[in-house]
Amino acid sequence: MRLDPECARCGLCHGRTTVVGPEGPRNSKVVLVGEAPGEQEDVKGRPFVGRAGKMLDRIMSEQGVRREQVLITNTVKCRPPNNRRPTKAEVDECYPYLEQEIAGKAMVVALGKTAAETILNRSLKMNEDANCEFYVEIKGIKTRIIPAFHPSAAMYRRSSRKSLGDTLRLVRQELDRTGNASSRGT
Ligand code: URA
Repeated sequence: MRLDPECARCGLCHGRTTVVGPEGPRNSKVVLVGEAPGEQEDVKGRPFVGRAGKMLDRIMSEQGVRREQVLITNTVKCRPPNNRRPTKAEVDECYPYLEQEIAGKAMVVALGKTAAETILNRSLKMNEDANCEFYVEIKGIKTRIIPAFHPSAAMYRRSSRKSLGDTLRLVRQELDRTGNASSRGT
């Protein structure tokens, strides 16, 4: 399903400025999925460009991953009021967009509980499940999912920052293994 810039599938449409779609090469083998756009993302129309995005950029760069090598998106595409967690109903309405974005990927990194629990359709304990490998069928294709700490958690806890660094190292290894269309200039 094509992302509709005028989407009104849920009530988040009333408070948003912009529908924030995925950024990066559509054909990347790796996709990073956050929770929802924040204030900066809502204004700029791009995912992870606020404080959490700066943290993500820093950790990616430490692990040798460039932003233009991966697809970056969110579980819901519109900013929830006061940055609250999106409701299950909002997540469900937005899922067809997410499903399209993650289908066929070699590695789906779910940044934070909202993304991970949505994609895996089960509850998780991030302290136990971060960087573990899960497999689910996405549009009939068995897909590897890695739950990870959200970059905003990495701003406040050293252990979460280190864990997210380990996640990004796995991303780097995946890109090295599968190659990446954008890094070959295609
Ligand atoms: N910015 C995003 O785009 N997603 C998040 O989950 C947090 C900040």
